[in-house]
Amino acid sequence: MRTPELTPMLKQYFEAKAACPGALLLFRMGDFYELFEEDAKTASSVLGLTLTSRDKGPDAMPMAGFPYHQLDSYIGKLITAGYRAAVCEQVEDPKKVAAGAIVKREVVRIVTPGTVTEEALLDPKQCNYLAAILPPEEEKNSGVLGMAWIELSTGGFWAGTFPKNELYDQLARIGPTECLILESTDQLVPETLGERIMFTKRPGWAFGLRTAKEALLRQFKTATLEGFGFNDDSSDDPAIRSAGAILDYLNETQKGGLAQVDSLIPYRSGGQLEIDEASRRSLEITETIRNRRREGSLLYVLDKCMTSMGSRLLGEWVANPLTRLKEIVVRQDAIAEFLANDEITREIRDQLRRVADLQRLLTRVLQGRANPRDVAQIGRTLRSLPCFREKLAPLSSTLLKSLHDFISPCEELADKLDKALIENCPVNSKDGNFIRTGFHEELDKLRDLQSGGKQWIAEYQYTQSQRTGIPSLKISYNRVFGYYIEISNTHADKIPSDYHRKQTLKNAERYITPELKEYEEKVLTAGERANELESRIFDELLDAITEQKVPIQRTAHALAHLDVLAALATLARDRNYCRPQMVEEPILRILDGRHPVLEASEQSGTFVPNDARVDKTHGMIQLITGPNMAGKSTYIRQVALLTLMSQIGSFIPAKEATIGIADRIFARVGASDEISRGQSTFMVEMTETARILNRASGNSLVILDEIGRGTSTYDGISLAWAITEYLHDHVQCRTFFATHYHELTDLTDSLERVTNMNVAVREWNDEIAFLHKIIPGAADKSYGIHVARLAGVPREVIARARDILTELEKTHVDVAFQPLETERQAETFVKTTSGGAIQFSLFGSEEDPILEELRQIDLNRLAPLEALKLLSEWKQQLENEAKKRRRNRKMTRTITRTEPQS
Ligand code: ADP
Repeated sequence: MRTPELTPMLKQYFEAKAACPGALLLFRMGDFYELFEEDAKTASSVLGLTLTSRDKGPDAMPMAGFPYHQLDSYIGKLITAGYRAAVCEQVEDPKKVAAGAIVKREVVRIVTPGTVTEEALLDPKQCNYLAAILPPEEEKNSGVLGMAWIELSTGGFWAGTFPKNELYDQLARIGPTECLILESTDQLVPETLGERIMFTKRPGWAFGLRTAKEALLRQFKTATLEGFGFNDDSSDDPAIRSAGAILDYLNETQKGGLAQVDSLIPYRSGGQLEIDEASRRSLEITETIRNRRREGSLLYVLDKCMTSMGSRLLGEWVANPLTRLKEIVVRQDAIAEFLANDEITREIRDQLRRVADLQRLLTRVLQGRANPRDVAQIGRTLRSLPCFREKLAPLSSTLLKSLHDFISPCEELADKLDKALIENCPVNSKDGNFIRTGFHEELDKLRDLQSGGKQWIAEYQYTQSQRTGIPSLKISYNRVFGYYIEISNTHADKIPSDYHRKQTLKNAERYITPELKEYEEKVLTAGERANELESRIFDELLDAITEQKVPIQRTAHALAHLDVLAALATLARDRNYCRPQMVEEPILRILDGRHPVLEASEQSGTFVPNDARVDKTHGMIQLITGPNMAGKSTYIRQVALLTLMSQIGSFIPAKEATIGIADRIFARVGASDEISRGQSTFMVEMTETARILNRASGNSLVILDEIGRGTSTYDGISLAWAITEYLHDHVQCRTFFATHYHELTDLTDSLERVTNMNVAVREWNDEIAFLHKIIPGAADKSYGIHVARLAGVPREVIARARDILTELEKTHVDVAFQPLETERQAETFVKTTSGGAIQFSLFGSEEDPILEELRQIDLNRLAPLEALKLLSEWKQQLENEAKKRRRNRKMTRTITRTEPQS
């Protein structure tokens, strides 16, 4: 079969398509971007575009397209749906292409989730990271993985090495949208992370050490990486190799435009509070578990920033709390000073409201993608800088003083931009008219010409009228003939010789002169020349900004810090937070602490504050028992969140607090959310527990919310018991353990550093109320039935459940102490308890009444008939009980299964 001859344009298309495998090609054709073949089909279903076809018959080719000005919005949709988009532009002016030839086209960019820099596609409040991971190579057996990550819209670039088992925790900390991995590895990433990240496979050479070093040095224009804190001589540096892979990918997808990437920061662990992936998720630090939204998270409550730079920085702070006392105190001092100077804080915040996103704007300038409005925004922000310096000048805390110094007003540049740009700048530079009149003499002249040069014409008309002595001589313009001098026939004898006739009318003649002709040409090209000149002036402005890159970057950084600190101070004032005293010993003392998120969402005044105290004298482990819905998990999460907040330097919702800096926070909470993810709940629970036991140190903070729920009660209690013992004896860290296993409260008998706490419940008649107050002592009731009633379970069911409970209590089957796994186990249980043998129990049991009776009997005084009668009675009694037990066993199983999860 003959392959159909490709048109030159289709040839161009297929070449471009082949150059960017794995991406949908958006092919610019005039005012449209078109997609073809499979891409067209995908786009039509993902973007809802109408599928048409190019040509008919056997050569028909599926096609779909959209108008050029909708590019950003369609790219956004493609990326959200998990695709990459390659943008193929016309790279020469179609007007200038010779007849018959086709316009040149090139792929100018490949947009992927991690490489987006379009303002419209980025969340202004969130960093957008692209990461690269290099797993440890088996033959090297180092157990160390390399990782690098970049925020392209601001140019921040980091690299580090981590123990292999920290992969997920680091990914959770950074939260990249895209991650480069070796083509040859099948990296298994848990669903909880995987669904968030696009994994992009890259060839092995992209991770090569030599190429990486060369590419980085070329990018940074330096001769060594030592200056950034990396070792040049290292024979294998997985961090550098990962950074190289990122650079390689960016060069491929961005096609240049990486001027904002000018350094690589080594990431060293140890300076940050470590929070593993599961704990991050369950503490709802940056998003909620339920719908993964920012709203309802800790970050959402803390974020009172006025600028998006501030919001992003706060996000970084919350993801990376500090562990060094000095660094924390420096932040606290700044917040305290803002609190003490309310007026200044308000003014600074008011001024921040007008500050633009200097970081991302600067990047667009460096990438050559800034428009006049962007530049005007930079100008406006720069002009506001002296005001910040002035407000900060009287403040004396270390951090605020250095922020003052970091803000460089760039006065000359600010002035220049102010003078150059009009008030309401357009987004598009092509159409001109955004440079102010009076800024550039030549531009003013061209504009004057463009608008018909009225003054010149008036002067020329005057001189010609004087010269010829014709008072009625008039200069006009029309589209067909251009400029002309009109002279009525009565003055025909006065026409000078340099006047050339152009048109004859009934009563007049129209003339042109060489001067007027020349002027006309100038006028006609003035528009185009003015635009060219304006774009040259614009380029100069961009250059002027680029020259000030370093001070602008520093200033942006300082403004972001200022914003976060002022926001935290404002939050502290509005919500009545206190400054926690930070210490290095592993202690924790919170007076009247509140849950920051719950408090913010509850009606004011309804949240019940709670104290928390653990240290060597008061016990390191708190065991909190109490009914479901009483407030156990709120309390223990509160402790973790307040510690975390303290370590970012923030004030906290409490009356008073002393917080010992934690090296790690572990939060193992109820398994209900994993159930929906279809994982083996118990396995997940135990994996997380194993991690805590293996990694927690004496300086860690551990909160455990129900352990062992996913298995049978005996298993569960035994595990919970042993885990608590281990934490007590070996790890010796601050631990808050909320549990519904009342049996665990007996632990205080054998472990000296465990204290029992429970949640106060008020009971009267048949009613109960949860007071949400944590008080010393062990809980003795579970109140499950009350909770069921509160939840609206029908009255008959509640009544029946009460009967069953009474029955169970009578027969010594502790409600919290079942069910039995198998029938055989159940039978053994019945036999041992009813048959007189001593039942094996962790916690002992009361003696059977029949045994008691037997022990009391004096056999010497018992007549044979009497003995027989007694035996028969006992037998009857045992049979009845066995029957009851069997029934109750069924019931208790059901009860346990339906018991509400906390
Ligand atoms: P538990 O873990 O004991 O089952 P939770 O901590 O989940 O209970 O709390 C149940 C509900 O009680 C929460 O959703 C909250 O509305 C409320 N609550 C908990 N603690 C407090 C408190 N200190 N003040 C006010 N309401 C609280």
